[in-house]
Amino acid sequence: MKVHIITVGDEILIGQTIDTNSAWMGQQLNLVGAEVVEITTVSDSREAILSSIKKGFSNADIVLMTGGLGPTKDDITKKTIADFFGEGMTFHEETFARLTKLFAKFGVTIQEAHKVQCMMPNNATIINNDMGTAPGMWFEYGEKVMVSMPGVPYEMKWLMENGVIPRLKEKFKSQPIVHRTIMTAGTGESRLAKAVEDLEENLPAHIKLAFLPSLGTVKLRLTARGDNEAKLNQELDLLKAQFIERISKYVYGFDDEKLEEALGKVLKEKGLTLGTAESCTGGYIAHRITSISGSSAYFWGSVVSYDNSVKMNSLGVKVETLEAHGAVSEQTVKEMVAGAITSLGVDVAIATSGIMGPTGGTDEKPIGTIWVAVGNKNEVKTHMLSLTKSRSKNIEYTGNFALNFMRKFLKER
Ligand code: ATP
Ligand code: MG
Repeated sequence: MKVHIITVGDEILIGQTIDTNSAWMGQQLNLVGAEVVEITTVSDSREAILSSIKKGFSNADIVLMTGGLGPTKDDITKKTIADFFGEGMTFHEETFARLTKLFAKFGVTIQEAHKVQCMMPNNATIINNDMGTAPGMWFEYGEKVMVSMPGVPYEMKWLMENGVIPRLKEKFKSQPIVHRTIMTAGTGESRLAKAVEDLEENLPAHIKLAFLPSLGTVKLRLTARGDNEAKLNQELDLLKAQFIERISKYVYGFDDEKLEEALGKVLKEKGLTLGTAESCTGGYIAHRITSISGSSAYFWGSVVSYDNSVKMNSLGVKVETLEAHGAVSEQTVKEMVAGAITSLGVDVAIATSGIMGPTGGTDEKPIGTIWVAVGNKNEVKTHMLSLTKSRSKNIEYTGNFALNFMRKFLKER
């Protein structure tokens, strides 16, 4: 099944909003075996929307449109769609009832603009939107389909996952496609590729392997297509086990699991509590850990010890250590771990201190020199990273490294 994505919005054309919707939809559609043939962005205008729909139906079986359904531009988009199909509009009572109830819950009375949101093209099948006011609209056009969804990313995602993709799979009866995703950290794509080289070469034609790298982590995705889904699942389970065997020391999880989730699981399993002492990451690691629901079971807190005075006063780093070795040193991060364990009252702690750039740095300690330590009260492990001049990349990479370093420290004990 071929898909043409249309994103509507003046704000996208002027770069005020970045079109993340298409990227996300592309990924999801790829996972279900649909081929995106074109992505078009158009302004909130009748002519542009009309010509994009025509173009969409000319080169795809499915046209997925997002945007233009907020309370302000709503009338143009829906009227244009209705006109394209040669249909009128009717007031959709069910949507009105749903909105009235929703607004009552927030103690707000319904406005005229919201009533406009209840006018729907006659040929639209309404897909309820549990995340917002504007519903999705499904249109049949001969054998083809068009769906219009609001532009708000979390509303679009909810509609795609709960309404659109299941209906498309049903209607277009696509060939089964199954995946296995292995998450790795601590090594690069080329080393992983080398380790699984012969396995990859021997893959049957209907199974593909993809390496999807980001900063300090690489996803391996096996994708199989065929007619017999049960058989595909069996084949992939077997292959997955073979791949894992080769690269086991780098595997931290499956299916898009995050490093902070994997670390949380180990902490829970072991019944241990964690704290962080962060200089150069400024609380980023704590933020990632606490972005996981349920993290209060194992995460106690963080000391963002950016200035040396905080390293000394809140973490007990010795002035002699700072004078002799500097803040960016193995000795300092070791003392930061010990200090965090004591002052936060935790079992294990992560510490970071580094020169993130793009300014600063010396010959001896160039930009990108970052010390990371992890440990408990008896033992601390350290590692020096030599990274780039890009501050944001350095912070992200250090976060990934530190989370995985702690995960491995716990796993080995
Ligand atoms: P109206 O179009 O009626 O003015 P609106 O722009 O608020 O209302 P939508 O077009 O549905 O309604 O967009 C809602 C929000 O979603 C906006 O903040 C917009 O910036 C954002 N958005 C729209 N399209 C995209 C996209 N392709 N990627 C990411 N965000 C988007
Ligand atoms: Mg818009």
